[in-house]
Amino acid sequence: MAMMKAAVFVAPGRIELQDKPIPEVGPDDALLRITTTTICGTDVHILKGEYPVARGLTIGHEPVGIIEKLGRNVRGYQEGQRVIAGAICPNFSSYASQDGLSSQDGGCSCHGYKPMGGWRFGNSIDGTQAEYVLVPDAQANLAPVPEALSDEQVLMCPDIMSTGFAGAEAARIKIGDVVVIFAQGPIGLCATAGAKLRGASTIIAVDGVDSRLAIARQMGADVTLNFRNVDVVEEVLRLTGGRGVDAAIEALGLQSTFESALRVLKPGGTLSSLGVYSSDLVIPLGAFHAGLGDHKIVTSLCPGGKERMRRLLNVVASGRVDLGPLVTHHYALDDIEAAYELFANQRDGVLKIAIKP
Ligand SMILES: [Zn+2]
Repeated sequence: MAMMKAAVFVAPGRIELQDKPIPEVGPDDALLRITTTTICGTDVHILKGEYPVARGLTIGHEPVGIIEKLGRNVRGYQEGQRVIAGAICPNFSSYASQDGLSSQDGGCSCHGYKPMGGWRFGNSIDGTQAEYVLVPDAQANLAPVPEALSDEQVLMCPDIMSTGFAGAEAARIKIGDVVVIFAQGPIGLCATAGAKLRGASTIIAVDGVDSRLAIARQMGADVTLNFRNVDVVEEVLRLTGGRGVDAAIEALGLQSTFESALRVLKPGGTLSSLGVYSSDLVIPLGAFHAGLGDHKIVTSLCPGGKERMRRLLNVVASGRVDLGPLVTHHYALDDIEAAYELFANQRDGVLKIAIKP
């Protein structure tokens, strides 16, 4: 049996590189030879045992690779083609998919809305931090990468860019809006870029790390606030003349950022939440105007599927957004345990790590 290396969840606190069989290709699958993948904040939640997955599962959900083998039902692609697939792999036959919710896909046509059911890589099936990955429902999920683009340039498309942009899209940003984005990690930076593309005229980016705020400016932020130096809520209200922002995007998953997002929102504004929360949230009565503020609170999970990926690749190819600065480190798959150590502890200014088998 042909074997490959894969980063496997062993137990809370332990992700290890192990040998696994290269998967067999079913009729609707494609086998990708991974050329570049990366580690996501969600993978760190898995590592810490905050988000449970099966022991022995290969982690990772951000693939760039070459089609090694196509299932016999998959049409329109060629072996040897360079492709990505979204972190979310819907099959587009479930009720949720047909309702436009690819990420809440049931995974098969008989199911309805399984929360997060479209997220399969590194969640319900083996993921991408390996030499090979099996893409399910390949016909719905493979997106060819334009030749001129490097792996690094498209590495954000499967998850980070799709999620960050979804935060801006779900906020229904209008031309001329004032938008604040809490946290400028990779997803927050993409939300900042998304707000710019949507036509926001004043974009306020918040973080506690100056190097991230510098990149936020490259992504389109007009004002950057370091929460270590200013009272962000006061400052945002001052900047808007007490009016509050049209939209606040939360890109971290903490009570404090969620609450601040609510406190700076105008009546009728939208709080667009992208963070992965690990505990209950409290909604403060005053900031919520006792429930009578016409606020909209919306959440998003990374939209997937080949049409979403095609659009994101098109944004990169057109030069509208350059996410190159988000790739701060390179590691070999063989050294992925060290990469996890660096990323989980947020050392050395890390944003995203390109991992190459
Ligand atoms: Zn992710």
